[in-house]
Amino acid sequence: MLSFELSAIDLILVVAVIILTILYLTKSEVKPPTEEKQTFTIVHEIAHQKLEHKSPIFGNLTEKETQEQETEADQLAKNVCMHRRC
Ligand SMILES: [Zn+2]
Repeated sequence: MLSFELSAIDLILVVAVIILTILYLTKSEVKPPTEEKQTFTIVHEIAHQKLEHKSPIFGNLTEKETQEQETEADQLAKNVCMHRRC
């Protein structure tokens, strides 16, 4: 039960981050991100969910643990995008 509730919260957070990221990136006036960059960002956020990462806000993670999660999500997103031609 508890893990289901945490997963639902994590999913909501991932969706919120994706929406905010897209809004932020699409409103950037300096240099609009490429479609590839936007896709990579979305895949990166989905990777966090698939890898069952803890929320840096609610997960009580150290800076090192947070960075390790970011590196893992980046690596998975790179692998997915390489094979899918994001
Ligand atoms: Zn991340």
